[in-house]
Amino acid sequence: MSLPPQDHEFLPPYRLLLGPGPSMVHPRVLHALSQPLVGHLDPLFLDLMNDIQALLRATFQTNNEFTIALSGTGSAGMEAVIANLIEPGDRALVGVNGVFGTRLATMIERQGGVPLRIDASWGDIIPAEAVREQLARSAPVKAVVLVHAETSTGARQPLEDVGALCRAHGALLIVDAVTSLGGIPVEVDAWGIDACYSGTQKCLSCPPGLAPLTMSPRAMEAIRQRQTPCHSWYLDLALIADYWNDRSRAYHHTAPISMLYALREALRLVQAEGREARFARHRLNSEALLAGLETLGLTPLPATEHRLPMLNCVTLPDRINDAAVRTRLLEDYGIEIGGGLGPLRGRVWRIGLMGESSREAHVLTLLGALEEIFA
Ligand code: PLP
Repeated sequence: MSLPPQDHEFLPPYRLLLGPGPSMVHPRVLHALSQPLVGHLDPLFLDLMNDIQALLRATFQTNNEFTIALSGTGSAGMEAVIANLIEPGDRALVGVNGVFGTRLATMIERQGGVPLRIDASWGDIIPAEAVREQLARSAPVKAVVLVHAETSTGARQPLEDVGALCRAHGALLIVDAVTSLGGIPVEVDAWGIDACYSGTQKCLSCPPGLAPLTMSPRAMEAIRQRQTPCHSWYLDLALIADYWNDRSRAYHHTAPISMLYALREALRLVQAEGREARFARHRLNSEALLAGLETLGLTPLPATEHRLPMLNCVTLPDRINDAAVRTRLLEDYGIEIGGGLGPLRGRVWRIGLMGESSREAHVLTLLGALEEIFA
């Protein structure tokens, strides 16, 4: 058996991460990752879990007791919510206007549920009116599932009116906030969201590896009322709740200790900056980037009122060779930006200004590099 050469440490170069995630990580978060391990049932670690729960409640704007950081990336949060709330035969309305709505529909199907798709063009949103009509037509519906920030298109899904509609029809509201949390308001309680998951590597600016997750009492009751046990043992939220619950702390699986250190530090940075200041920073840097890109002939895909400040999706004029420019950015300037997915492949760029990546200096660096490349 021949092994690849392993005579040196892997020392990655510095990259400016301006893609759809992961985003840049603050040095304090990297420092937290390198701290000595304690056991996952050590009283000090249990205190840290309590801190994380309190910080996550503030970030999600919720009083939900079940507010945790699930082991795994954003997709683990997605799969946990679907696997626990959708039982075989359950019908769920799912907004499909990009990659992640499509993935949710697939997951619902794999759990034996029936996804009732509300389709919209990529770059558009799912209108509340369409949800209202489908809910009235398709009863009974167990859940309405929407992606708040569709990372494949840069569209922000309005959610303010959907919670009341869901309650009126006895449906749960499930929201993907992987890209939105920490960059634009996510108001779990005020918007009547029953299950909301995120990821650490976008606007929270922590490495990928955890999925912040919060569930309302209604959602937890739906889990208790299941006819069959959750098909996933690892993602069974009833079991995981017993580990995060301060009164039981029952072992389920070994917590990713270092990642939880890092998340605590990342959430402390989010709180220290303050919600309004953080959201304003994301808005301002996005506006500056878009103004610069427009002079280069790149225009935003979503309508102005539905644009995400942390994920700037711009259409490319024909003269720009997508792959060639992105390769030059990476190889000559150390800058990563994202290309299009699915039907948008080769047609758009996705420029992430998420968390620590959303800095004026980074916007200027990218625009300067593009100007040189296009000169
Ligand atoms: N949902 C959305 C909106 C995302 O943008 C992503 C990742 O980009 C995911 C879910 C999946 O997250 P992960 O890649 O961390 O598993």
